Amino acid sequence: MATLITDECINCGACEFECPNGAISEGEDIYEIDRDLCTECVGFHGNESCQMVCPVECCVPDADWVEEEVDLLAKAIRLHGSESLPSFEELDEKTSRFRNENWVNRDV
Ligand code: SF4
Repeated sequence: MATLITDECINCGACEFECPNGAISEGEDIYEIDRDLCTECVGFHGNESCQMVCPVECCVPDADWVEEEVDLLAKAIRLHGSESLPSFEELDEKTSRFRNENWVNRDV
C-alpha cells in the first residue's frame, strides 16, 4: 500500500523533506505522494515519516494500492542501492512498519 495524502491536507509542507524517497511534492491543490517512489518508509523507518510529522494526520495507507513488504523493500533498493539498506531478513520494528506493533496507521 502506498501512502496517500487526503484532502484534509493544509499544505504546511512539513512532510516533503521527511520522505526518504523524495516521493512528496506540492500538487495543484494539496501535497501529493508519487506511488512509484513511496515505500511506506520500509527500509528506513518503522512508521511512515510523513504521517509522523503531519499536524493533521492525513498521510494514510492507500487501500486501492496494496503492496507487500518484500516489494516495498525491493523498490527502496532500486531507488537507493542495497548498501545502505537492511536485507529483508534484517528488517525490524525500526525499519519496517510491517514489524512495528505500534505502527501509527494501524487503526486508519
Ligand atoms: Fe499536508 Fe500533512 Fe504534508 Fe502538511 S504534513 S503538507 S498537512 S500532508
